[in-house]
Amino acid sequence: MKVLFSIRARTQQKCHWVIEAQPQEFKRILKKGKLSFEWSRLSLREFVRPTRCYKCNEYGHISTRCEGKETCPKCGEGHKGPDCVNQHKCTACTAANVKFQKGYNTGHPATDSNCPSYLHEMVELRKRINYAS
Ligand SMILES: [Zn+2]
Ligand SMILES: [Zn+2]
Ligand SMILES: [Zn+2]
Repeated sequence: MKVLFSIRARTQQKCHWVIEAQPQEFKRILKKGKLSFEWSRLSLREFVRPTRCYKCNEYGHISTRCEGKETCPKCGEGHKGPDCVNQHKCTACTAANVKFQKGYNTGHPATDSNCPSYLHEMVELRKRINYAS
């Protein structure tokens, strides 16, 4: 588990920590009641997000375990992202269309929070958290 960043609440003297954790780990934290002073205030949604690889931009693994190619998060081509001016093309959705015949619209960056692959991963992740024992 690692702390990604913190968000300072605007009105009160408090800080929200955004923490990356695997579903099982997450459950354990909740059970222990540690951090409950903050966890209880926020919905689960704010802590849960799917794992997206920063290298190939596909979901389900992290960059250190990546066996894919480095792709641009904006256009899906084989270069790094920041200055890219190409038309948006989502690598994750393109891959899902090929692998699972999804028919997703791919005209958005891989980092888009409305990315159909992202939303799909969110649903799957929530299921795992709800049912993990
Ligand atoms: Zn990867
Ligand atoms: Zn690009
Ligand atoms: Zn997408």
